[in-house]
Amino acid sequence: ANWQKDVAHVVHPYSNLDAHDTRGPLVITRGDGCYVEDESGNRYLEGMSGLWCASLGFSEKRLVQAATKQLNTLPYYHLFNHRSHPPGIELAEALTAIAPEGLNHVLFANSGSEANDAAIKLVWYYNNLLGRPKKKKIISRLYGYHGVTVASGSLTGLVHVHRDFDLPIPQVKHTDCPSHYHFAQPGESEEQFAERLANNLEKMILEEGADTVAAFIAEPISGSGGVIVPPKGYFERVQAILKKYDVLFIVDEVICGFGRTGQMFGSDSFGLKPDMMTVAKGLSGAYQPISGLLLTDAIHDALKAGSRKHGAFAHGLTYAAHPVAAAVALETIKIYQERKIVEHVQSVAPYFFERLNQLSGHPLVGEVRGMGLLAAVEITSDKASKTPFPPEAGIGAWIQNKAMEHGVIVRAISTCIALCPPLISERQHIDQLVDGLAKALDEAQ
Ligand code: PLP
Repeated sequence: ANWQKDVAHVVHPYSNLDAHDTRGPLVITRGDGCYVEDESGNRYLEGMSGLWCASLGFSEKRLVQAATKQLNTLPYYHLFNHRSHPPGIELAEALTAIAPEGLNHVLFANSGSEANDAAIKLVWYYNNLLGRPKKKKIISRLYGYHGVTVASGSLTGLVHVHRDFDLPIPQVKHTDCPSHYHFAQPGESEEQFAERLANNLEKMILEEGADTVAAFIAEPISGSGGVIVPPKGYFERVQAILKKYDVLFIVDEVICGFGRTGQMFGSDSFGLKPDMMTVAKGLSGAYQPISGLLLTDAIHDALKAGSRKHGAFAHGLTYAAHPVAAAVALETIKIYQERKIVEHVQSVAPYFFERLNQLSGHPLVGEVRGMGLLAAVEITSDKASKTPFPPEAGIGAWIQNKAMEHGVIVRAISTCIALCPPLISERQHIDQLVDGLAKALDEAQ
């Protein structure tokens, strides 16, 4: 019954809508720790934390209690017109306290896409208020992922997100993807590759005109574009160039935030100093939709100047800082701190990579990469030339489906298999995940 109703009425994101009619949905009905269960009672280790987000697994009772307590106290209020509510206030305090230095203010939204969308709007607003109406272009990167709205989908550097959707908008320009594996020239070291990419970024800024380039946006590690870890020295060089040309740095921490890379934020792992930072996903452990755009004092001051000029700051979403979502996010941050989630990730990550690196010798594996509890196994048809399988071969999807038969959920993206297990994973979960993937790889040979 579920199958027929789904096929009749549900439009599925990122799914082949034509094939869906015949293949139907996989209906997930329950969650338990690092596991989920489908309607037939099959149990899977969720090696992707859903969509890189259920960091505390699927049955954290404290988050359920935080939500019900808030629902019983005040199920809804908003922050418009100087109104406020305790969970919104406390979450803003907790979030800015753990954020990289200088990010003292937060504008809430409901999704990562909306937070990045707001970042672009505020960059434009900021430069208008500073009297620089020409400084509006945003540089993003190929294979970066920042969402799907008109603006955030434009930032996303993936062809299929743009194709026939009339994206990107003209203000967005894309620069190189920092994947050494895919894009380094023969013999080029990580440092040389980083330098070439930084030079290309500088060239782009100069060609566009520094007085027209407002901001650069990047994920510390690109997730959905293929778990791309930047080469050594990359962000150091990039940040120096941004500073030189007075270009704001927006860091998208939607996946990397809250312990994923083995520090509280990916910015901490890579020494990033963002002017703006977006968070979502792990912010609430995915138990409620909520996101945030964090801002420095300098940008917040410009917003205040905007109000001196125009009156009320004319931006806001009905459900931004929804009190139930904010209460859950606040409890999530408390759990991360009380259970020392960063230290936990640091303690299991070496084992995660020890096990994954055992797959490196596999004929189909081109590379194992990642950091913390975020990884990718690159699939190749020829290790020496790094040739990927043609997309129509569907090798990634095949491996992903086989892995499910072995009880583990991984995700085929781009030319790799991505892994992003819950941060509460222990060694036995890592073993099960890697063993399941290894079996799928063996069967794919
Ligand atoms: N930014 C990054 C780095 C993401 O991975 C995602 C989603 O995968 C987004 C933004 C968009 O978030 P949402 O799907 O909540 O709009």
